[in-house]
Amino acid sequence: MQHKFVEYIPEEVIEGNIYISVQFATAVHKCCCGCGEEVVTPITPTDWKLIFDGDTISLNPSIGNWSLKCRSHYFIRRNVIQWCSSWSEQQVNTNKLQDKINKDKYFEHSKGEEEPILLIKLWRYLKALITS
Ligand SMILES: [Zn+2]
Repeated sequence: MQHKFVEYIPEEVIEGNIYISVQFATAVHKCCCGCGEEVVTPITPTDWKLIFDGDTISLNPSIGNWSLKCRSHYFIRRNVIQWCSSWSEQQVNTNKLQDKINKDKYFEHSKGEEEPILLIKLWRYLKALITS
């Protein structure tokens, strides 16, 4: 897997590449199983974390494409795909619930901080539009 730091995610996402926009805190790649579906992983304190070690990238936690037909499940660690077993419906639901709890907890702690972050993002977006 090749990582590409970009300002904007390109219209054509090439298989085997992962595009990372730091500005918009998002990474996009084509599903590693080869099904051709695009997978978007938002980088936020409650979604995915991106680790760049100067040479390779890792995404945490794993990427579970439960909404895709292929239901593929893998980690991207140091630009290498590590396959995991597909989850059962129950595991997916348990994970979704845990995710929701984490998000609720996070936003409860950062009430009032959320708004400035959104404003900064909006401002960056507008600035990027003007300067492009
Ligand atoms: Zn797939």
